[in-house]
Amino acid sequence: MAIERGQPMQHPDSHWRASAPPLPDCPPLQGAAQAEVAIIGAGYAGLNAALELAEAHGIAATVLEAAQPGWGASGRNGGFCCLGGAMIEGDQIARRHGARAAADWDGYERAAIERVRDNLARYAIDADAGPEGEVKLAHSPRALAALRAEAGAECTLLGPGDLAGWGLGGRFHGGVFTPLGFPLHPMKYARGLAQAAMRAGVRLHGDSAVTGLQRDGAGWRVITAQGSVQARRVLWTTNAYSPEALLGWLKGRILPVNSAILVTRPLSEAERVAQGWTSQLMAYDSRRVLHYFRLLPCGRFLFGGRGSASARPAAHEAFQSVLRADFDALFPAWKGVETERYWSGQVCLTGSMLPWVGAVPGQAGLFVALGWHGNGVAAASEGGRRIAPALAGGQSTAPPLLARQPGRVVPPLIRPLALHAGLTLARLIDGPLR
Ligand SMILES: Cc1cc2nc3c(=O)[nH]c(=O)nc-3n(C[C@H](O)[C@H](O)[C@H](O)COP(=O)(O)OP(=O)(O)OC[C@H]3O[C@@H](n4cnc5c(N)ncnc54)[C@H](O)[C@@H]3O)c2cc1C
Repeated sequence: MAIERGQPMQHPDSHWRASAPPLPDCPPLQGAAQAEVAIIGAGYAGLNAALELAEAHGIAATVLEAAQPGWGASGRNGGFCCLGGAMIEGDQIARRHGARAAADWDGYERAAIERVRDNLARYAIDADAGPEGEVKLAHSPRALAALRAEAGAECTLLGPGDLAGWGLGGRFHGGVFTPLGFPLHPMKYARGLAQAAMRAGVRLHGDSAVTGLQRDGAGWRVITAQGSVQARRVLWTTNAYSPEALLGWLKGRILPVNSAILVTRPLSEAERVAQGWTSQLMAYDSRRVLHYFRLLPCGRFLFGGRGSASARPAAHEAFQSVLRADFDALFPAWKGVETERYWSGQVCLTGSMLPWVGAVPGQAGLFVALGWHGNGVAAASEGGRRIAPALAGGQSTAPPLLARQPGRVVPPLIRPLALHAGLTLARLIDGPLR
């Protein structure tokens, strides 16, 4: 759901908001301003692009954010800094786009994780980074066989009997450990980036939803309620919250999908042992409609999954019991443990099932970096960095595969219906949890 359609601008009552140091409010844009580069959206992609412009190109960008930095998915996610960003696997990319493209994408994903690690160190952001690696857990014996077949050389296979020793006790049938990535506090990371950007001279404006975009000579005029920026080049990093009605070249090419998270109250050591889950590794299951989960450093358990088909508040509220029932089924020893907080946000799929990082065809000076398919902690950070040279008048360093404008996907009007049908079918194929 795009901002212009009345999304409340208050960040949801998430565990992240409750546990991150506040960021001083960024003032709205007022009056007419000029900038070499304007960036729309202050999430990981926009903030990384602004930092790269400042540090590598000496350009102080103006960043316009409808709410405050980290309001979008960057302040609401599960905090899995991991591989991903596309909806198709490496072998499918190789078949469709060639081996070179698949290798480029693999390199991008790995570099993206290192980018986040470097950001945390470089800007001294304490984002509660956790242990290295992630585990994909099989939801059936058949799924375990498939996991074994697809595991790379660097992975460790876990049989059903291995899970207890790894502290991964739940209703799973084994899994695969990949020694890449790490968990973090997503809001601390987002706010840390925002602070670093301000220190670097970036002009960061909150409460400044872009409501208009006009050609202005060789550049663009970006319009907000109280002001405008005349910029030579403009980058859109609005991801699932993009105002599609304003952007004809994007309309219908993305598919925003809800993802929801619950966090329990802190679990005692005895409760963790009773369930057999003591690890802080990032974990997710092998279902099509997957669940992702991890024990937080504070002892609470985070459990997320695909959210309601509609973004309406009533659908979000109703979905809490569905998510909670899934949690109870997978972790039966914690049935009585209260949910402390529940929230949701939107992830962005594209018609190409790949991110789009590049120039907008036929719109000189207009660029995008979006479409992370629910895996943007690392991928969006990297995308912002890689598009920055193009904003400075040079060449993007993103893989050519990502520079292509995605084809059309489900039109906005029939999205809730299409999502409901797709999710119902996928749940049927996955089979019952309980
Ligand atoms: C519940 C949930 C769990 C997730 N879990 C994970 C995870 O564990 N690991 C992972 O890698 N990824 C995860 N993701 C995905 C990840 O959070 C996103 O891919 C990533 O944050 C995208 O960053 P971004 O900068 O592209 O967009 P966002 O962070 O969404 O930022 C876009 C910004 O654009 C602003 N905006 C929109 N329209 C306008 C306008 N007209 N004018 C000005 N500003 C505007 C919005 O206010 C918003 O702040 C999850 C997402 C959700 C919702």
